[in-house]
Formats: sequence, structure tokens, C-alpha cells
Amino acid sequence: MTADSCVFCRIVAGELASSVVVESETVLAFMDVDPVTPGHVLVVPKAHLPELADLTDAVADEMFAVARSVAGALRSSPLRSEGVNLFYADGAAAFQAALDDVEGDEAPVRGVPA
Ligand SMILES: [Zn+2]
Repeated sequence: MTADSCVFCRIVAGELASSVVVESETVLAFMDVDPVTPGHVLVVPKAHLPELADLTDAVADEMFAVARSVAGALRSSPLRSEGVNLFYADGAAAFQAALDDVEGDEAPVRGVPA
């Protein structure tokens, strides 16, 4: 998978529609197009870093900080939220959805509740 075919990179570049929740210099958080539950947010690095081992400590720290911020916002929002799951899908065997070869303007992203 290259950055050109990566759904997350296309969302970061603004090529695919998304509902952005948080944006920092290195991280983007947005609503999942096919949510598992209301408030399902994806937190991704802005750089093309498809595997967990690709993350620098600084990017991983920022992703976790954004996830904590989103979790706090969800817990204090009108949405019913009795708990929050953090899930990181690293590879297809770990339920990471196929992220390449997306056509159209809506990203079929599944996966990572924050
Ligand atoms: Zn990417």
C-alpha cells in the first residue's frame, strides 16, 4: 500500500470526505463512515505510517493524547457513553481493513474506535 492508495492519506489530503473531530500537526481524528457505535472516531497519523512499528514515539504520544481528548469529549457529550474502547488494528490479521484502491469520494473506513 502506498500513500497514494491509502484511504487515511487520502482523507488527510482532503481527497475523501470526512467529518473531522480533532486535527493537530501530526494527527487527524474523524468520524468513522460506518460506525460500530455512535461516537466511533478514528485517530490516524497524518504521515503514511501503516504499521504500528512505523510510528515514532512522538507520533504515538500525539495519537494517544488525541484519543484521550476525544474519549473525554465523548464521555461528557450528550451521547450515551458508559465506556470507551481504544483499539489499534495493525495488519489484516489484526482486523485492519483493506485501505487501498478506494474509488469515489466517501471513504469505506472501518475500524478503530477511540
Ligand atoms: Zn496512509
